[in-house]
Amino acid sequence: MSKGRPTLIGLPYDGSSSFRRGAAAAPPLIREALHSPASNPWSELGLDLGRPDALADAGDVDLANTTDVRGAIEAGIRRVLQDGGRPVALGGDHSVTYPVVRALRPLHRSLTILHFDAHPDLYADFEGDRYSHACPFARVMEDGLADRLVQVGVRTMNAHQRSQADRFGVDVIDMRRWMARTRPAVSGPVYVSLDVDVLDPAFAPGVSHREPGGLSVRDVIDLIHSIEAPIVGADVVEFNPSQDPVGLTAPVCGKLVKELVGRMVQAGI
Ligand code: MN
Ligand code: MN
Repeated sequence: MSKGRPTLIGLPYDGSSSFRRGAAAAPPLIREALHSPASNPWSELGLDLGRPDALADAGDVDLANTTDVRGAIEAGIRRVLQDGGRPVALGGDHSVTYPVVRALRPLHRSLTILHFDAHPDLYADFEGDRYSHACPFARVMEDGLADRLVQVGVRTMNAHQRSQADRFGVDVIDMRRWMARTRPAVSGPVYVSLDVDVLDPAFAPGVSHREPGGLSVRDVIDLIHSIEAPIVGADVVEFNPSQDPVGLTAPVCGKLVKELVGRMVQAGI
């Protein structure tokens, strides 16, 4: 079930951001960085993304002219799957993950989500919005869309989200556990959800919620490379170009997409 060509699909949406808009502008900039002649198209694992069969691109889902954003995202992902692709969604804010996983789940009898984030995103609702970017993993777990949720890099846990994590049995490898050398062990089909604010803002300032004390780019790449389970889909979300004055975060996102795709192709068969 993990076969299929990795396929980019842009989700230019930031209407569920609680603090600062701007992530909707990210998808074309991530593509531009991924294809930039500043680097070459080879992943560190030896995949040439410039090979015609290595990576497809389904374009962006039109989310500006719909009142049903989540429905449009779900339909867009379903189209990628029906065409035999493996979705690599480019956010957008983190609210997009819930409809992406809704589309993906029916294809897999079991599904683990490996979630990189400074934030647990487990609020029952946030300021009255159940579909806020602070809530997607509460929706995912309530709907039984993942059998197991493993979070890495969390450093903003509060009492409410702790009780939610306990309720859903979430394996939270927060920064303290990470520094104590705990690493996730995942098996079976895995979906990777990568909120770039998991990185320390020194590496990736272009996010809506800068949370110091995070992972390095190298930490994240090494963890991606270490995944031996088949990666059946992924997203890279929360890059906010309006907060990226030196243009550093876009190439970080491009690099992470490149290494994710490299791992998808080489582990996902
Ligand atoms: Mn998030
Ligand atoms: Mn976050």
